[in-house]
Amino acid sequence: MSLNANHIFDIIHSMKFSRRDVLKFSGFSIIATAMLPRMAFAARNSVQSVRTGVQPGNKTRLVIETSSRPSYSLSFPMNQLVVNLANTSANTGIKPSLASDALVKSVTQVQNGDSLQVVANLKQSIATIEKSQIMVLEPNGDNDFRLVLDFVAGTPSQNKPQQNQKNTKPAAYTTASATPTTAITASRKYVIVVDAGHGGKDPGCIGAGGTREKDIVLSVAKKLKNKLDANGFKTYLTRSDDRYLKLAERASIAESRKADLFISLHANANPSRKMKGFSIYTLSEKASDEEAKKLAEAENAADKIGVEGFTEFEENIRIALSSLQQHAVAEMSEEYATGCAKSFKRSSIEQQPGPDVRHAPFAVLRSTVPGALLELGHLSNSAEEKLLKQGAHQDKLVDAIVRSVKNYNFEV
Ligand SMILES: [Zn+2]
Repeated sequence: MSLNANHIFDIIHSMKFSRRDVLKFSGFSIIATAMLPRMAFAARNSVQSVRTGVQPGNKTRLVIETSSRPSYSLSFPMNQLVVNLANTSANTGIKPSLASDALVKSVTQVQNGDSLQVVANLKQSIATIEKSQIMVLEPNGDNDFRLVLDFVAGTPSQNKPQQNQKNTKPAAYTTASATPTTAITASRKYVIVVDAGHGGKDPGCIGAGGTREKDIVLSVAKKLKNKLDANGFKTYLTRSDDRYLKLAERASIAESRKADLFISLHANANPSRKMKGFSIYTLSEKASDEEAKKLAEAENAADKIGVEGFTEFEENIRIALSSLQQHAVAEMSEEYATGCAKSFKRSSIEQQPGPDVRHAPFAVLRSTVPGALLELGHLSNSAEEKLLKQGAHQDKLVDAIVRSVKNYNFEV
């Protein structure tokens, strides 16, 4: 095969997928060699035809036929209906077929970066289009995918965004609806999986005063879940009681919940009882320093996963995709971790001397979900052991983490 993994990587990269798009590829499915180029090109949608008609009840029907399933949002500026099609190219070769008694006077296509705006110029404004009046039809013998919109004239009551909370359009745009899949995305809460490290037969590290890591991190995890949920996130815990979970199970909970962010909570121990402070880690194949390597070995020990057992990337297409994902995940994780360290420092939580973000091959972070492992402090330091047991200090930690999640840019 002449295409090597890097080559494929470049091709995919040049397609300008967002990092979030990349994460949507299944990381674990085997993708046949021949499929990849097709997949890459199929990712670009195109308009095949545009037509209007009049339905009973004097409804105008606008049909936009596309080569693949449309991902769209709608807006209703004065005397216009704008259908924004994600990842779609303009097709100036098509002539819209317009019924004379329908509301649509003319249709133009406006390329806006990767998106295409199909602008229907109307005889009268429309207020909105009911969800029940929007259909995406599967291809049949004569047609490709069709986005079918039925609407009547009406006065826009308010020009404020209705649904898409991430609407970056000018205020005059009103985003109303989307495909069944993107509708879920648009209105769905960001999903956070909070992982309380260790549990059950694995106590984690134990302070001189007998404080067990598994208990501290479970307490913080529960508080964190409550506070994140109260702030509009959907939070799941990998464990909500004292039970043993394998590291891979924790990572797969994040995968199966389709989490946007994974936060693994731990507390630290150091041979030097003077060592204090929090530290934040993201995944990498190689540890950033000897201490990080030792820590990863200690945290991985529950499953007897050696640092050297970390999978090497191989030169095949499956791995090319996977490495692209890993690249996106690594970048997003790094951003989250950097912000998290900032937030901890803003809350005047003592930081362990060293870089804000460290890297090590933590098994629990091996997934397609961006995330970080937080060592909340040192149980091996008696002052910090006391602090970590205190409710007020746990609340402070929780507040700092919640702020870091709120500040994290989920959409880039
Ligand atoms: Zn731990």
